Amino acid sequence: MTYVLITFIVLLILNVYCSTISQKLFYKSKESSMVEKCQIAANDLASMKILNHNTVTSAVDQMGSLTATRLIITDHMGRLIYDSEGQPQGSYVLLPEIVQAMQGNNVFYCKYHDGTMQSHAATPIISSGNITGCVYMMEYDTAQGSLIRSLQYTVLEITLVLEVIVLLFSLAFSKRFSIRFTQIMASMRIIQQGDYTHKVSLGGHDELTFLGDEFNDLTERLQTSEQKRHRFVSDASHELKTPLASIKLLTDSILQNDMDMETVKEFVNDIGNEADRLNRMTTKLLSLTKADTQIPDESEIINMTPTITRVAKMLTAVASQNDITIRLELEENCPILILEDDLYQIVFNLVENGIKYNMPGGILTVKLNRVADNAVMKVIDTGVGIPEDALVHVFERFYRVDKARSRETGGSGLGLSIVKTIVVRNRGEITVSSIVDQGTTFTVTFPIFDTEEELS
Ligand code: ADP
Repeated sequence: MTYVLITFIVLLILNVYCSTISQKLFYKSKESSMVEKCQIAANDLASMKILNHNTVTSAVDQMGSLTATRLIITDHMGRLIYDSEGQPQGSYVLLPEIVQAMQGNNVFYCKYHDGTMQSHAATPIISSGNITGCVYMMEYDTAQGSLIRSLQYTVLEITLVLEVIVLLFSLAFSKRFSIRFTQIMASMRIIQQGDYTHKVSLGGHDELTFLGDEFNDLTERLQTSEQKRHRFVSDASHELKTPLASIKLLTDSILQNDMDMETVKEFVNDIGNEADRLNRMTTKLLSLTKADTQIPDESEIINMTPTITRVAKMLTAVASQNDITIRLELEENCPILILEDDLYQIVFNLVENGIKYNMPGGILTVKLNRVADNAVMKVIDTGVGIPEDALVHVFERFYRVDKARSRETGGSGLGLSIVKTIVVRNRGEITVSSIVDQGTTFTVTFPIFDTEEELS
């Protein structure tokens, strides 16, 4: 509505401006014609030796072409010598135009009123450098006046037509705008009620269409994250249910059957194992939530080598128990920007998997190299490998290639998804390649951070 008002005001100003300009143009043309006429008369009269009523009247009669509503000629004192309207001679003429002309000026004054243009012009009569009198002319011009009036009416009509067009356009536009806006509001309400499949369709190519597209994009992302959340909750409940069911079964068996002490001990041991599994799973779930939400604002530049060595030391005992050898081939200078705990968790999960899914007598190698501006860590095992069709899923939550084996080794299907989340959050990349029964290689790449300045 503000735009409409501004347009109205602009059109109104344009209207007034056009009228004024047209009047000024008419005034200009009138001025040159009247001043010229006055000067011709003044020049004629200047050549006369005596200026009196008779000489001036005969001179005026000879200037038959002088068309004026009123013509006055005065002497050097401003006394009337000739008046086309027949005023008695000798009286002082105190018209302001004549007073100014007597001071040696060419005077013109014009006024438009109610369809008539009234113009006044006065010129001194100068003979041998002396002002000997004054010529004054006045004209009522109704023809030009009505021309100005019709011009003003035309401009006014055009302005009115334009204003009506603007009004109609803005009404149509605001109607369309409000319909489409209501559509967006209605869609928002539908989404608020939980229907993330709803899409708003506005058509057109304006800002609202763009807003609608953004809105659809947002709902799509909401839908995806809602689906992920659903899947995560149902997967997590399913995973937690299995050990709980085992515990229930084992306790029921102990209570209902008349068992010997040996079997009871075995069952209680199993219950303990299931409880441990539950414990591990909840710990991993917690660290996954942490990995999802944590912002790496406390990151520091650390060399990767010491952390990898620490993990290897920590897992050496487990590796020996499984008859696996850990080998380290680490380049020294690989500083990266990360939280030390994050790096530890990445290396720990990958090395632990390399031991878990290895074969007796197998080797687990960790390589670290600086390649261009990246630190590249490879965790290579000689284990069972991952089938090609499973490779794309290994980073998904709760995904396990071989459920039975994973359960045997205490796996939860969460380790790799935690690793991926942390890697990506720290500007890194992780890839996997594998050949079944030959081994698996996980490659993690981080950008090198050599100096503190690179932080900024
Ligand atoms: P889990 O706790 O079951 O080990 P992960 O997320 O760490 O969960 O791994 C997901 C699945 O990917 C595992 O269940 C396993 O089947 C497969 N996997 C992971 N690492 C290896 C590896 N080094 N060799 C073979 N399979 C692996």
